[in-house]
Amino acid sequence: MFDVIVVGGGVIGAAVAYYLSLEKLKVLVLEKDSVGQHASAGAVGFLTVDSVPFSHDVLREAGLYSRKAYLSLAPQFKKECGVDIDLETCGTLRVAKNEFDLANLRQEGDWQKAHIGEGGTDFKTVPAPMARPNRTFSLKKCGDVDFLTATEIAKRWPAIEGKIAGGFFYPQDIQVTSSRIIEAFRQSAAALGADFQESREVTSWETNGRRIMAVTAGGKKYAALTFVLAAGPWSEALAKPLGLRVPVYPVRGQLLIFEMAQRFLSCPIITGGAARASGPISALEALRSGAAESYYLGPKPDGHLYAGTTLEEAGFDESCTEEALERIGNEVCRIVPKAGELPVKGSWAGLRPATKDNLPILGKAPELDNLYLATGHFRKGILLAPFTGKAIADLIVGRKPMLPLDDFSPARF
Ligand SMILES: Cc1cc2nc3c(=O)[nH]c(=O)nc-3n(C[C@H](O)[C@H](O)[C@H](O)COP(=O)(O)OP(=O)(O)OC[C@H]3O[C@@H](n4cnc5c(N)ncnc54)[C@H](O)[C@@H]3O)c2cc1C
Repeated sequence: MFDVIVVGGGVIGAAVAYYLSLEKLKVLVLEKDSVGQHASAGAVGFLTVDSVPFSHDVLREAGLYSRKAYLSLAPQFKKECGVDIDLETCGTLRVAKNEFDLANLRQEGDWQKAHIGEGGTDFKTVPAPMARPNRTFSLKKCGDVDFLTATEIAKRWPAIEGKIAGGFFYPQDIQVTSSRIIEAFRQSAAALGADFQESREVTSWETNGRRIMAVTAGGKKYAALTFVLAAGPWSEALAKPLGLRVPVYPVRGQLLIFEMAQRFLSCPIITGGAARASGPISALEALRSGAAESYYLGPKPDGHLYAGTTLEEAGFDESCTEEALERIGNEVCRIVPKAGELPVKGSWAGLRPATKDNLPILGKAPELDNLYLATGHFRKGILLAPFTGKAIADLIVGRKPMLPLDDFSPARF
């Protein structure tokens, strides 16, 4: 008998297992394929907290919490399990291809400067003009935002040779290597006693009234006191037999991976996505209208240069398409022509677990006493993993989570 069974071994399941293990609970993670095999291991690993659909007050704070947590987790993981998560505080450059993009980026940058300040860690109560015009909320400082003219950008990043109107640099932004994050959470949790079982697809739940008693996976029954559903975009189908509505849907993202023998970009470069600053729109609306279309280049310490990405409704199809890879290649090369000279190492596609309101689904399942949901992290699962793991562990041990989770409630649908 386990204290907690976590269904799904992506970054969210692994982080939940880690934080539960810190509470000295006996944890089992059941993964249908391999741990991290789907969206989690291949994700680019930008830990940016400024982009829409990330303008929700509590979600932004959750991102800041996570980003800070990674700064202490990085040396801790290295010490505990020898895994280097490749954390780089290299900042992020967002470039505007034209004046329209620039105006929108400036709106977001100005808002951050005016309301969040430059550096420091104070809490402030500020209006949130972009996301929720009539709400106030408290916010930790996000950090600096530096406006740079096209000339300044060309000087600092000579590889950016395409025509741009200017950009904004977020110096405090961090990036990591996603596959190593999963490995670090997994190994650290395992060192604390957690058990990760792969090729164990949960196929049924055994219930008694309002309680789940056991799950069946790989023809075997596993019992526990508490269960966590962290199965990414597969969560909806898994929750259905329990009479639960967990509306998470897959949004495919593709990446082109170059080999960069000599690093010529110091940080991630993100272009487009200008509509991001004009207000909250659902992930589905964004991808259908093309409003969220944005391309990026992510230079990694291992010599890979990731180019992304797409937002596609393609069901559970995790394959790449020639058309999308060509489009990504063309778009990034317009800004950084040098990328086009690099050998292509490969391509990758993953399914982001999206929700209609762009918010994750975190908390106790309605109508059931011992099931918690942790899914729907869309484009921010790597960033939000520490926050999610800690919050779910807090709920399970009966502690108040560090932020109010009401807006993420599974009962909202
Ligand atoms: C191109 C791309 C780039 C991205 N870049 C970033 C980024 O820079 N920063 C960031 O923060 N996020 C990024 N993301 C988003 C991030 O990858 C996701 O938010 C995150 O991986 C979701 O993690 P998860 O654990 O919820 O889901 P998943 O990784 O999908 O894990 C769910 C797991 O559950 C398992 N499962 C499903 N059904 C069952 C079952 N019946 N029994 C047992 N196990 C089951 C699956 O096999 C899977 O391993 C990116 C995503 C993509 C596609």
